[in-house]
Amino acid sequence: MTDHLYYHDSFLYEFDAEVRDVTAVESRSAIILDRTAFYPTSGGQVFDTGWIVADESKSRVAEVTEKDDGTILHQLEAPTTIQKGTRVHGLIDADRRRDHMQQHSGQHVLSAAFVRLFNMPTVSFHMGAESCSIDLDTKSLTGAQVEAAEGLANEIVTDDRLVSMRFVTQAEAQELGLRKLPPVDRDKLRLIDIRDFDLTACGGTHVASTGQIGCILLRKTEKVRQGWRVEFVCGKRAIATARRDYMTLAESASLFSSHIWEVAQQIRKSQEEARAERKSGEQVQEELAGLYAKQLLAETSENSGRKVVVRVFADRDSAFTKLLAQRLTRQSPNVVAFLGSTGGQPTLVFAQSPGQPFDMGALMKETLAQFGGRGGGSKDMAQGGPAKAEGLEVTLAELAAKMHD
Ligand SMILES: [Zn+2]
Repeated sequence: MTDHLYYHDSFLYEFDAEVRDVTAVESRSAIILDRTAFYPTSGGQVFDTGWIVADESKSRVAEVTEKDDGTILHQLEAPTTIQKGTRVHGLIDADRRRDHMQQHSGQHVLSAAFVRLFNMPTVSFHMGAESCSIDLDTKSLTGAQVEAAEGLANEIVTDDRLVSMRFVTQAEAQELGLRKLPPVDRDKLRLIDIRDFDLTACGGTHVASTGQIGCILLRKTEKVRQGWRVEFVCGKRAIATARRDYMTLAESASLFSSHIWEVAQQIRKSQEEARAERKSGEQVQEELAGLYAKQLLAETSENSGRKVVVRVFADRDSAFTKLLAQRLTRQSPNVVAFLGSTGGQPTLVFAQSPGQPFDMGALMKETLAQFGGRGGGSKDMAQGGPAKAEGLEVTLAELAAKMHD
């Protein structure tokens, strides 16, 4: 088993060690040291990265994992020539470690705040690349509760309370009333103590006092299978997130030439305006279709007792074509209309006045068999979307000629 230096000092970013073995994890070289300050992924906290330096070489540590027996594997980015027995120097990426400490200690404070205020225990913790989350065992979670927990958590940060670590036996731990006991039986438990606020068993790396967390910012909440998930960011991540939120809001506000606080109000107003415009646009379309139908009927002469209207529009959409077909067949009892539009996705609308003898659905199917595409309809009205627009006009004219036979 590797000596876990990070158990005793979270701020140890450099250390000396001896190579115990060089092995492999999948295709990567992996180094086992007698002691390490590299934190392996465990307990919700993600691994450290950094370098392992020997006389002749400098190897990038890409990932760190721990075996069940406590052996820590330093997985390297590139193959290595380091031999067993070599003395090496380990360098931890300090910025990444500090970020992880801010997130993990922030999680302890936040989880304790939810217990203190609302008796909501944390059942899991996830540390992501951008944000972290805890899952709370609760049936409901209100916005006011989230705000209250955030408030208390940040008070604890402002208090700058001492965060200490100690080892106790299982029996001692039972007496202490921990927030969370680990599921596995170990003879020695490592406790993280946030003075007079939280005491919990944890193997992670933590800040020395709560002020180092910086701040705790709660964001999205969502219902999950085991309760409620609360997303949060701490310290420098909180600053970066707040900055990004501000930039997004500021950009949105400038589109409306308004203050950022008024963005939601402006969006609501725009949505209402868009709805009203859509409605008046639809009215105009309907009126236009009615007038256009009247004009088409006036200029189409009757043949064998019916008027056959054929039109292919390059600048009208399918909604207008359909409206026109309805108006044509309603305004006159003896109309057959073959309409198409080629602006955008080509569409076809065939319609006849009720009582006319043809079958528009069948004619549509025949036409689409020739052009490809899908569509169909009833005896009086059919719609389709031909796969191509070339030749539609000629085909519709031929179809129209048959209606007089
Ligand atoms: Zn922890």
